Amino acid sequence: MGDDFERSLGRPKAGLGDGDPDGDGPTDAERALADGERRFQSLVESVSDWIWEVDERGVYTYSSPKVLDLLGYAPEELVGRTPFDLMPPAEAERIGTVFGALAAARQPIVRLENVNLHKSGRPVVLETSGRPVFDDAGEFRGYRGVDRDVSERWQHEARHALAERVFQSTEDGILVVDEANRIVSVNAACERITGYSAKELVGQDPRLLTSKRQTREFYAALWSALLETGRWQGELWNRRKSGDFYVQRTSISTIPGPTPGAIWRVAVFSDVTRERAHAEEIEFQATHDPLTGLPNRRLVSVLLERALARAHHDGMQTAVLMLDLDGFKHVNDTYGHHWGDQLLIHAAARLSGCLRGADTFARLGGDEFLAVLDGDVGPEQARAVAHKLIAELQRSFTVEGAEVFVTASVGVAIAPRDGADAASVIAHADAAMYQAKAAGKNDCRFFTPSMHQAASERLRGESELRRAVAAGQFVLHYQPIVELSERRLVKAEALVRWQHPERGLLAPGQFIALAEETGLIVPLGAWVAQEAARQVDVWRERLPKGFRVSVNVSPAQFQRSDVGALFDAIAQRCGVGLEGLELEITEGTFLQDSGGSARDALRRLVERGGRVALDDFGTGYSSLSYLLHLPIHTIKIDRSFVLGAPTEPRSRALVEAILRLAESIGMEVVAEGIETEQHAAFLLGAGCPLGQGYLFSKPLAAADFERGYLSERVAAHRT
Ligand code: C2E
Ligand code: MG
Ligand code: MG
Repeated sequence: MGDDFERSLGRPKAGLGDGDPDGDGPTDAERALADGERRFQSLVESVSDWIWEVDERGVYTYSSPKVLDLLGYAPEELVGRTPFDLMPPAEAERIGTVFGALAAARQPIVRLENVNLHKSGRPVVLETSGRPVFDDAGEFRGYRGVDRDVSERWQHEARHALAERVFQSTEDGILVVDEANRIVSVNAACERITGYSAKELVGQDPRLLTSKRQTREFYAALWSALLETGRWQGELWNRRKSGDFYVQRTSISTIPGPTPGAIWRVAVFSDVTRERAHAEEIEFQATHDPLTGLPNRRLVSVLLERALARAHHDGMQTAVLMLDLDGFKHVNDTYGHHWGDQLLIHAAARLSGCLRGADTFARLGGDEFLAVLDGDVGPEQARAVAHKLIAELQRSFTVEGAEVFVTASVGVAIAPRDGADAASVIAHADAAMYQAKAAGKNDCRFFTPSMHQAASERLRGESELRRAVAAGQFVLHYQPIVELSERRLVKAEALVRWQHPERGLLAPGQFIALAEETGLIVPLGAWVAQEAARQVDVWRERLPKGFRVSVNVSPAQFQRSDVGALFDAIAQRCGVGLEGLELEITEGTFLQDSGGSARDALRRLVERGGRVALDDFGTGYSSLSYLLHLPIHTIKIDRSFVLGAPTEPRSRALVEAILRLAESIGMEVVAEGIETEQHAAFLLGAGCPLGQGYLFSKPLAAADFERGYLSERVAAHRT
């Protein structure tokens, strides 16, 4: 067999067992044969396939030189080897079995793929084809065949299989379209996301999925990017087969198509609807008022800025209306926060219902709303809208079964006349609104430059008050509270005044509200309590037995500070302790006391000898349950009822009812604002024990109080 091999290599012949006829010199026939062999050799060497022959046992008897390229072996290195020697063991076994069966049946080998090892160890996939060879006697002598390297195809196929696997198993939807924008392929995720099967999609235009939520310009931009750069990336609103909208984050790229010059476009996308919804919700929360769902200050500022830019471009006017509910704070303090919230929700809905769809209605906070009117809106139209809003509130609201009325004050600013940017237009509408309030509320005012001054004055007022608190520009006046039958002094109410360096002595009505709004009421209230305690201590020896000075404590003080701790500290520092003091509180204290901390603070004070009076009774909710369940010793009937009581039946009935109730639960009553003998007589007749008012004395400076009430002569009346 080895001989055959050498011979084959040296003098390639047409085939195994074709015999070499012996002869002396080259005959014509011999020369023709030699030519044929040369031609055969050059043919064998020029083809890219490897030509070989094996004997019936599979041992190589001939190899063309090509094996060097394919497997790294020189033909002579194959001497005595079989194809199985060139394969990894497992493959050798598999192919050995196949070959054995084919050889036994003398069958041809048809494109049998097998893995071989290159001499360097690298696997090479060969495709083997061969035919059985028989000698003249018809005896089977082996195979003659060709091998070609199909590794590349295999790698390609493997890559393809991998790509297919990735294509089908990825979470991202993939959709491929041809140049005519017809879908040629989709993956499983695409089917899942869109709800369409591959069968329904292939051949269709992807427009099948569009939602029409994007504008024509949007698609024009998408296509121009695709045509220019071959890529596009962004979010698309599409529709599932079910009709539901969804957002897909998409990236489209261009790849070569199946024929030269053709292109395909591949869209890879993920469904980000939920993510988007979540992001939108966060965005919504950041830009909207949670109570009413209206845009908040942040959003309306942005929207107004945009509207101003548009209006500037088109040479139009923009109207901005600032609306503030009148007396809402009082409603809130009286009926409670929850109740106030309900009213705000109703009012917001009603007011925004008055506006056109393109207008913006926002809640800036508290009871303040802002309307930005769409389009070219001048003063006349703005006034009409303002009055419409005001009129809308004329109908009462029903909140938790109770009927309430609210009114609103509206300030109007018109851009560009009243400001060029959102902040100044809003500030000017605000200044106009303040003017509407000052002018009696329930009306609208337009911004004028002089209001700018008023607004800055308010700001100045705040910093002035701050300085006044720091500099101690306050004094207490004391108003006697007398026993009505004998007009004997039993208590006094401490009332604060601001000793203003330029404006003189200011009454609390001129600064308490501002102090409450700004929180300055906390240091101011602390000073009032300390000063009252100090004064009682100074007067102690000369005061009637059981005498107390009452101190007004505002709800804001309970909310913003620890009133209990304040009075504890005072009691410790002063000789009088809490027995010399009474706290005047209002119902607002409890209405804003959701955690019960004000109630607890009062209980603690009462346990240590403090007393509590409920001020301005009759003006608020006048809940009987407060009287019964809270630590209250005294009711102060508001001045407004005392004023009307002698003549007006309703006030009279109310005063009488309060007195009867107080008597039955053992509570002390003080009537406020007694100005005339007629008042005093009525109250005395109705059984009111104590009173305070100008009839007896105005609030007096400490020195005047001392002179009038604590002199020796007066002191002689002491019990
Ligand atoms: P209030 O606690 O109801 O005090 C009674 C108010 O009625 C006082 O007004 C007093 O001067 C006035 N008044 C007394 N008798 C008569 C009368 O016969 N006729 C009329 N027309 N008025 C009378 P003032 O001092 O201006 O205080 C007003 C309110 O300011 C007080 O009402 C109280 O709510 C508040 N206030 C006063 N001082 C303080 C304070 O130190 N802290 C706090 N938080 N509020 C205070
Ligand atoms: Mg009072
Ligand atoms: Mg009062």
